[in-house]
Amino acid sequence: MTERRLLLGNEAIARGLIENGCAMATSYPGTPASEILAAVAFFQKENKISMHTQWAVNEKTALEIAYAGCQTGLRAAVSMKQVGLNVASDPLMSAAYMGTKGGFIVISADDPGPISSQTEQDSRLMAMMARIPVLDPDTPLQAKEMIGRAYELSETFKSPVMLRPTTRVCHSRQDVGLEKIQPNDREVNFEKDPSRWAATPRFRFHLHNEVEEKLAAMARHEPTQPLRLNPEAKAPKAIIASGVAAAHTREILKELGLWETIPFYQVLQPFPLHSDFITHWIESYEEILVVEETMAVIEMQLADRHRVKGRESKTVPSVGELYPEDIQEIIAKFCGVQSERHEIPFFTGRRPTLCAGCPHRASFFAIKKAARKGIYTSDIGCYTLGLNLGAVDTVLCMGAAISQAAGFYHAYKNEEKRPDIVATIGDSTFFHAGVPPLIDAVVQQVKFVLVILDNRTTAMTGSQPTPTSGRGACGEPLEAVDIETLVRGCGIKYCREGNPYQLNEFIDLMKEAVKYSRENGPAVVISRYPCVIDLARKGETTEHIPVKVTEDCDGCAFCIKQFECPALIYHEDEDKDEKYVSIDRILCTDCGVCLNVCPKGAIVLKNK
Ligand code: SF4
Ligand code: SF4
Repeated sequence: MTERRLLLGNEAIARGLIENGCAMATSYPGTPASEILAAVAFFQKENKISMHTQWAVNEKTALEIAYAGCQTGLRAAVSMKQVGLNVASDPLMSAAYMGTKGGFIVISADDPGPISSQTEQDSRLMAMMARIPVLDPDTPLQAKEMIGRAYELSETFKSPVMLRPTTRVCHSRQDVGLEKIQPNDREVNFEKDPSRWAATPRFRFHLHNEVEEKLAAMARHEPTQPLRLNPEAKAPKAIIASGVAAAHTREILKELGLWETIPFYQVLQPFPLHSDFITHWIESYEEILVVEETMAVIEMQLADRHRVKGRESKTVPSVGELYPEDIQEIIAKFCGVQSERHEIPFFTGRRPTLCAGCPHRASFFAIKKAARKGIYTSDIGCYTLGLNLGAVDTVLCMGAAISQAAGFYHAYKNEEKRPDIVATIGDSTFFHAGVPPLIDAVVQQVKFVLVILDNRTTAMTGSQPTPTSGRGACGEPLEAVDIETLVRGCGIKYCREGNPYQLNEFIDLMKEAVKYSRENGPAVVISRYPCVIDLARKGETTEHIPVKVTEDCDGCAFCIKQFECPALIYHEDEDKDEKYVSIDRILCTDCGVCLNVCPKGAIVLKNK
């Protein structure tokens, strides 16, 4: 009997890769895609499979490694979040022209909303630009099934294939059957063919022709053609949907009693859209509603503005995630039926904040003390939450903290009053995209301080290893890279390490670095202390320095506004004219850092 498991969408995708003979899987973590590679590593270990599984330094590197695997004939896959695909877009565009030998899947997880991303861009548009096909699953189960279809499509047409799950597919759970695992022991055979694998522009023109021919053939490929889910329904109107929106639409049509009347099609391959279906839809229906996330990829290919309704025509909201209640309202209006909107209560809760005991909080506190009125550029990671502390002024994209610091320096350098500039970047982000702009800053002698927040992990996405960890995706020992050696190798002359938990010493170090940068050039401070969540996972704790708040507290709220540890709780009783702060013993990690924060000295050692 087939074994069944309740799998997260990302685990189902990973299982699909393993079952379909994937021999090389790479990734760079990013929500909502992070669990895919971790689950590949899990199934690999569980089933004792020999394959290469790797967290790469960034998405571009991850794609290039996996692509080389497919050039040898192996089945390979790379996974990332949608903004990671921007980083990997360079090799992706070329890989589409050069084609593949073994099957190659690029999994790019989109984040409509966006819930945890800088943008809600649609990876399907990137697939269109790269001229590769894209499959759009509606559920974890379909995402797993699509892995087999994607490898078959890739190997039939010798093209990379994109799988584009969205957050709701990645992070929902479904009962999934585990199929037999196909062997991944193909012969590794790289066949030299410079006119393809090292093509110069003259050959690239021919390869582009080839790509367009492949796309035309893929637009007729039967296994990925749209599904007509209710063939009995007949009407002058039809609905076309893909991805999670198709799953919602299916349910809503049934709830509204329209399943028997309104023809409904699910698009599995939004690009290239199947040519026969485009003709069929345009010829058969007076009006077509397209429900898709996040951009108008299907609607655009139907290209009949008067009869096709969707995001472009504003029938469907042009931004944001499509909630079931939104889709219900749109369908009811399109079909001319009544429907009551049931709002699902949305609880906002408190704003996100750094964890109690997080070493980044101490680093930001020190930065503000050392460079008052400075410009604080920052980057992508949990330290972006330094925003709440007034210690983050800009966040653009991975690595931009350093290049933007340089940009601000160049803009201000001839001004009489040049602000101090302090950039913050996490250890993983520094390796990902921080090294080239640091080299640039050395060459240009940019006067700024870079603080590398080295908490020894990729904390925000679930504690994946970084190049400093010395361990791989399956926990195997690997070579570790030393950040200070790398920083000095970039040409930085001032590089110091400090422990942000030693707050007063760390403030002094930051002041020294700021002074150096004003007079000399770029300075780097490595702020090193492990992530408290990662420590807890390993069963370890921070230093044990229990603190208490004394009666000297006058409720000025300085510690709340400037330090914002969630374990510090503010109380205000207007009747008694009382304001004070207390410590939540459940949240407090006894890190002791707040000892140095209260200007009134009201936070003291507990046993004092
Ligand atoms: S603990 Fe100190 S900083 Fe915090 S509210 Fe009381 S007096 Fe103000
Ligand atoms: S000791 Fe202070 S800073 Fe550390 S977790 Fe407890 S309240 Fe927060």
